Amino acid sequence: MSHILLLNCGSSSIKYQLLDPEVGAPEAVGLVERIGLEVGTITHEVGDNEFRESRPFADHTEGVAAVVKMFQDHGPSLDDVVAVGHRTVHGGSTFVESTLVDAGVIAKLEELSDLAPLHNPPGLAGIRAAQEVLPDVPHVAIFDTAFFSTLPAEAYTYAIDQEVAKRLGIRKYGFHGTSHSYVSKEAAKFLDRPIEETKIIVCHLGNGASISAVDGGVAIETSMGLTPLQGLVMGTRSGDVDPGLHKYLVGAAGMTIDEVDTLLNKKSGMAGLCGHTDMRDVKTAIDEGDEQTQLALDVYVHRLVGYIGSYIAHLGGVDALVFTAGIGENAAHVRGPVIRKLKALGFELDEDANATRAKQAREISTPESKVRVLVIPTNEELAMAQETLAVISK
Ligand code: AMP
Repeated sequence: MSHILLLNCGSSSIKYQLLDPEVGAPEAVGLVERIGLEVGTITHEVGDNEFRESRPFADHTEGVAAVVKMFQDHGPSLDDVVAVGHRTVHGGSTFVESTLVDAGVIAKLEELSDLAPLHNPPGLAGIRAAQEVLPDVPHVAIFDTAFFSTLPAEAYTYAIDQEVAKRLGIRKYGFHGTSHSYVSKEAAKFLDRPIEETKIIVCHLGNGASISAVDGGVAIETSMGLTPLQGLVMGTRSGDVDPGLHKYLVGAAGMTIDEVDTLLNKKSGMAGLCGHTDMRDVKTAIDEGDEQTQLALDVYVHRLVGYIGSYIAHLGGVDALVFTAGIGENAAHVRGPVIRKLKALGFELDEDANATRAKQAREISTPESKVRVLVIPTNEELAMAQETLAVISK
């Protein structure tokens, strides 16, 4: 048994799982919430049992200590944990693969915090805290950006002054890499073909959303950029807008740059378009005849179809289009209009298969479709555990 403890630290939360990558299903999952607030909570689930405590957690160190205490009090034992895997959002150009954490890595991650001010500092705090309470096992950083380190220069370079770009590390990095990597490999397995011989487009549609083009297992394009704001319409994020919008909002509308940032990250996307971030609520509102919500979904689908068309061109054809994450796996009313709009490119939707709910990987195109359309559940935790094990086995 080689158990991996996975930590995913947000600004005020720690999500965790204990799992054996060879088994797959987690043995314990949990969540620490409201770190730094007056009262926080920790929820620890083992099988059908849920344990919950409410008390203050001053910082991530106290949060991680509470996680360890939950394992001590309610199991399973952490004795056979062979490594801790840490989800790390931004690896910049420095980290192109999952990496064993040492003092040098921590110093470099600190430098990268400027690139991901919202995401990397909590991740670093989690690494430090976990090293303190679990000092005898290796710690591995797994980067959301690493899978996209293979993008060709013409895909990752922004057409701006290159002196500024190079000095400040401004380029497309891409995110959700662990999911895109895992799902593209699972898709190749589903197609029963060596991944080296496949051209795959992965649509990771969750609260955050991104799409990637994967040629022979290698990522060649993706929609998120310097930050996770670029690209598709998301739950609360705008995705692509005219870069001139910032000056207009600051100049003509008198907003501060922080207000613009909040507008684009928190009050845009589906939330800004129709007030609903959850695609189930979107469906209900559309079924009730809400035209604004219909427009929101149309914008969402329009953006996605445009990216898919462009990625087919970049790949020079495509074998499979794959939907994954909360919306991709569950929302037939999103997948349906996307595939119907791609009919001219040879896509044929199997309406019944699309409408059928299932947890396992499945195909939703007809045998006549020129491109196979798949729904494949993502499993970022399993992928991270596999990565962690691979790093410590090197
Ligand atoms: P994720 O970020 O991958 O956890 O995805 C979360 C999103 O998935 C939610 O905000 C919903 O929009 C969507 N979602 C989850 N379950 C369903 C469902 N049964 N039907 C439609 N959308 C769903």
